[in-house]
Amino acid sequence: MRKMLIAGNWKMNKTIPESLQLIHDLMRKLDSDCPAEVVLIPPFISLSSAAEALRGSDIQLGAQNLSHLAEGAVTGEISASMLISVGCRYVLVGHSERRNLFQEDDTVINQKLKTALSEGLHAILCVGETWKDREAGKTKDIIGNQLKRGLEGLSLMEMRKISIAYEPVWAIGTGKNAQPGQAQEVHEAIRSELSSQYDPETAKATRIIYGGSVTPDSSPSLMSQPDIDGALVGGASLDADSFYAIINAVK
Ligand code: PEP
Repeated sequence: MRKMLIAGNWKMNKTIPESLQLIHDLMRKLDSDCPAEVVLIPPFISLSSAAEALRGSDIQLGAQNLSHLAEGAVTGEISASMLISVGCRYVLVGHSERRNLFQEDDTVINQKLKTALSEGLHAILCVGETWKDREAGKTKDIIGNQLKRGLEGLSLMEMRKISIAYEPVWAIGTGKNAQPGQAQEVHEAIRSELSSQYDPETAKATRIIYGGSVTPDSSPSLMSQPDIDGALVGGASLDADSFYAIINAVK
């Protein structure tokens, strides 16, 4: 049985004091029998303080990005081993903002996944189509290619440490989430692609989470779809009440 995964991607929001306040507010609300695995993904600058604040809790820490290289002369980058040393367990790879604003292609995304896994991080690989792709009927082809190229050369064992986030680009930060049926259809296609790239058992065990304007209102119907195993939440994770409501929708 796959445990639901709810991850909050704070993007470039929250100073260190604001991050600590949000963590404090959220920890006060979450029960010990939380129905989902919860991951907070603050900016790099807050990771160390966040790790300290989360010590002893079940909430996991994640990073928004990492370098594809292990170490060296790469000014401004952060390595997988640095993320491990600060207390991260998860890392996002291939978020559409990284693909679009920073020209990350499937080759570098594949290298980032390999680097992350080699250091023991769990990776959340983000895939998704633009509105133009969807209108042209190319959604499944685009995502199939992102999965093939992104996961190239990764073993069955490595795949066990990867979750997939389906994030339609047109739904991110727009207030326009995919309808539950639309999302379910793509999640099912992703599982079937994983089944052919790996095997049915691995496909069944992989968590495929949805991201794109998830709110407390939209999450119950999205989370009740058979192939949706959680959510990657941007805007609504910046507020303890709304993020808590999304986590609770898993029940
Ligand atoms: C995201 O950043 O991954 C995201 C899904 O953002 P939002 O929830 O704001 O659409």
